Amino acid sequence: MSQSRFVNWARTQSSDPVKVCYPGTEGEILDCIRKAGASGQKVRLVGAGHSWSDIVCTEGVLISLDKFNRVVRVDKAANTVTVEAGVRLKDMIRVLHDHGLSMLNLGSIADQSAAGALSTGTHGSGIEKGILSTQVLSLRLITASGEVLELNRTNDESLFLGALVSLGSLGVISQLTLQCEPLYCLEESSRSMPFEQAIEEMMEIVSSHEWAKFWWLPYTDTVQLFTCQRKEGKATWGQQVMDWLKAGRISRVLIAFILLLSRLFPAKIAIINKIAGKIYFREEYRSGVAEKVLTVPMPPRHREMEYAIPAHTAPSALNALRAYVLENHLAVNFIVELRFVAADDILLSPAFGRDTCFMGAYMGKNIHIEPYFSHFEAQMQALGGRPHWGKEFTASSEVLQAVCPNLVQFNRLRTSCDPDRMFENSYIERVFSACSEKGE
Ligand SMILES: Cc1cc2nc3c(=O)[nH]c(=O)nc-3n(C[C@H](O)[C@H](O)[C@H](O)COP(=O)(O)OP(=O)(O)OC[C@H]3O[C@@H](n4cnc5c(N)ncnc54)[C@H](O)[C@@H]3O)c2cc1C
Repeated sequence: MSQSRFVNWARTQSSDPVKVCYPGTEGEILDCIRKAGASGQKVRLVGAGHSWSDIVCTEGVLISLDKFNRVVRVDKAANTVTVEAGVRLKDMIRVLHDHGLSMLNLGSIADQSAAGALSTGTHGSGIEKGILSTQVLSLRLITASGEVLELNRTNDESLFLGALVSLGSLGVISQLTLQCEPLYCLEESSRSMPFEQAIEEMMEIVSSHEWAKFWWLPYTDTVQLFTCQRKEGKATWGQQVMDWLKAGRISRVLIAFILLLSRLFPAKIAIINKIAGKIYFREEYRSGVAEKVLTVPMPPRHREMEYAIPAHTAPSALNALRAYVLENHLAVNFIVELRFVAADDILLSPAFGRDTCFMGAYMGKNIHIEPYFSHFEAQMQALGGRPHWGKEFTASSEVLQAVCPNLVQFNRLRTSCDPDRMFENSYIERVFSACSEKGE
């Protein structure tokens, strides 16, 4: 991010804030809020800018906690860590490892800031594991009036459950305490299985593995299944380097190459994907400390839409998406990913109240991106799907209200924390417009 202009990781969103502040203490955060309030400016927070949606964009004041990013305390006895909210997950993980601790689960990358990842409901995969926000034991929230609130399950639980996935709309999260566990290692096994078999066995595989996710590259007849199991002892350095190279080969070299070829020759997508699938989607093993195995190397820039649907609908949803892509000869040049998470009670969590499959449609630059995303979104919405808040979606506030049971309740919290809508931008206005019309 430059000094003033905000551009997201995918380079699909940008805005020109009137000012970017980098407070280094809670006092300085308060100062930023007060000054913005005095001059009638709106305020947004930015983490690492890794969201695809326009959730961060503002013409008001942008606050970055890049200088408020320390690990405050590690409690080895309780397996907890307390961090300043701007810390990047990867930096926090490094300190955790030094203290013999690991995160309970993680998504595909660890480049996000802690508060940014939590605020959009970032998740990994594992049907008994919640989204990352479920790992939070307590947090400090600074509201528009400058009040500093210490929230947890016993101290204002309803606001706590709102603040755990808040889209940056309740105020500034300044500090977080997360539950961890003693450092553990994983072995990931990935193998290719026939598409029909994957559909048939998907739910059984999901329920019998602590971690499981599925990738389908359109036009291939197989699905790549990734499962992880706990493993005693760390991988050697040599193994780790080999694993990294193997994973790097898939995500960087192969995906970049597919994206380029499919852009140049969209009519040849079926053959391009089939060859890529044959070469790379085979049996592989990786092992090492949990966070290394759970993440993948940074992919090339691309676009993502992801919806949370009831877990049991995942096999038929993948089947239906395949039929649509094939019937319409769409040049889909990126995997479809299916990940699973446990139900939770966080107000705006896409997994609220139901075990969930996060189904992701991804695309590099391509002529068919709009029809693909638009069909995908309609299909997901027909299943009661809720969007990933940090990815692309066009669902209206009315549609969101129908599928997110706590949208109105969350909006009331927003009114109590931020009555003058200081922490609003056009994304937040869009999401809650139906609630506001009802005077909520
Ligand atoms: C390559 C890549 C891989 C990804 N993999 C996954 C994945 O595996 N699983 C998944 O679920 N998502 C994934 N994502 C999406 C990503 O995790 C989310 O978009 C996440 O929110 C980005 O974190 P960030 O720190 O960049 O936050 P930003 O995008 O900068 O901000 C996100 C939100 O957090 C708010 N915010 C930031 N800091 C604060 C604060 N201190 N207080 C209050 N609000 C704050 C912002 O206002 C904004 O509303 C991926 C993204 C990329 C680019």
